[in-house]
Amino acid sequence: MKIGVLASQGAFAEHIDKLHQLGVEVVPVRLPEELEGLDGLIIPGGESTSIGRLMRDYQLTDKIRDRAENGLPILGTCAGMIILGKNSQNMYPEPLGLMDIEVRRNAFGRQRESFETELNIPVLGEKPFPGVFIRAPLIEQVDGKVEILARLADNTIVAARQGKFLALAFHPELTDDPRLHQYFLDIVAGRQ
Ligand code: GLN
Repeated sequence: MKIGVLASQGAFAEHIDKLHQLGVEVVPVRLPEELEGLDGLIIPGGESTSIGRLMRDYQLTDKIRDRAENGLPILGTCAGMIILGKNSQNMYPEPLGLMDIEVRRNAFGRQRESFETELNIPVLGEKPFPGVFIRAPLIEQVDGKVEILARLADNTIVAARQGKFLALAFHPELTDDPRLHQYFLDIVAGRQ
């Protein structure tokens, strides 16, 4: 299995480490030709406008959208989740719009701009998952095709899946818990 990690900007190195720990081949993606032959792609956290601009400048945007529409599974974390969602906030460059989720950027007020909390994610089993939120976005609304995977105690949606696309408002790559990366690999392998 060969997984690409978009390596334009942000927390890509940590995703690469996690995937190595899980024993898969990893390709850091900065150029369109590096998308060839991938079985899945991770779009990391960072700054969504910078990532979007670099994707556009390096001719990655259309190629990623095209591969996704032809079945390439994608995991987006934090800024990567914003890139997967609809253009709820008139961002430029526009996000990919692959998932029917309305996303609000920098959604948590000052005190909680960055925080950690245990998340209940039923698809992973009973053990809570450590949620690391860093100037995180939230999912304001989803449509019927989207499966909600996790909410905060106040009901805010922070993880969702639509077919082969997985969106997380937080940073599983900054924890020791490999279960969400493994869950994504299971989607890639058709086991989930
Ligand atoms: N605040 C960032 C944005 O709006 C996302 C933060 C993150 O990826 N940790 O793009």
